[in-house]
Amino acid sequence: MTAGGDELHALDTPRRCDLEVIDGRAAEVGGIPVRRMLPLRARRTVGAWCFADRMGPTAAGGRALNVGPHPHIGLQTVTWLLGGSLLHRDSLGSEQVIRPHQLNLMTAGNGVSHSEEALSDSSDHLFGIQLWVAQPERTRHGEAAFEHHGELPQVDLGAAVATVLVGDFAGTSSPARRDTDHAGVEVTLRSGSVELPLEAAFEYAVVPLDGTVMVDGCHLSGSGIGYLGTGRDELSLSATTSARVMLLGGRPLEEELVMWWNYVARDRAEITAAHESWCSEDGRFGHVASPLDRITVPGPSWAPSNPKGPQ
Ligand code: MN
Repeated sequence: MTAGGDELHALDTPRRCDLEVIDGRAAEVGGIPVRRMLPLRARRTVGAWCFADRMGPTAAGGRALNVGPHPHIGLQTVTWLLGGSLLHRDSLGSEQVIRPHQLNLMTAGNGVSHSEEALSDSSDHLFGIQLWVAQPERTRHGEAAFEHHGELPQVDLGAAVATVLVGDFAGTSSPARRDTDHAGVEVTLRSGSVELPLEAAFEYAVVPLDGTVMVDGCHLSGSGIGYLGTGRDELSLSATTSARVMLLGGRPLEEELVMWWNYVARDRAEITAAHESWCSEDGRFGHVASPLDRITVPGPSWAPSNPKGPQ
């Protein structure tokens, strides 16, 4: 910081802020506005968490989310709603409505496809978050799977209630499948402050969902994530009005991910092969019984079949 005004401000608030606040960016998915919180240029992953889109809240009379059938490899999609509802259909034959405080967890493995559709009878405002977790070598070439959890364990922390979506938190475990050492916890704060127990070996980020929170004394509003790094065994959260955040944590990834469109892999050749399968409909990604059109995009710039590629 070089501006004199900032220096004066720093003198007014002499506490040290160890939170790295990284701005997300506005994007649009399936017709609705999202805030992309991962991956960001300054922060690609938090543990195995490699993607986070906060969706909505959509405006009254606004467009509904409709994402036609599209493929995934090498990741789990973790869908969590705060408002509204969505219909999930996938190539395994799953057809599952998700409502607030329920978890849809789809494991892509070697290949799966799915759609996310607005319910025709729903006029609720959609509000939620979709996260991806990179699968480890052990499972990323394996079978696809889908699970839905209508209810998840909660921990009463006094001024906050924590819902454990994935992994372990404060002595409570989620029943959801987990292929790596990571955790995802929704924290709903009333006015007041709480101490959250953390795993020192995990790195963490706080993703604001609604309201404004103070994270270890640093202000975090809706536009970006607060990255915390490793080595902490607790975290102080406080709010003056009700607020909700998603706490993401995990053992830092040792492998380098290659991500393009809806694929998570370790090299470009894997992605090129997956996209060729999707475009040629060779059966790798199955079929989704959806009224929406399949989504496709031109291949990656490095693919030899792409005439715009740098050959
Ligand atoms: Mn998807």
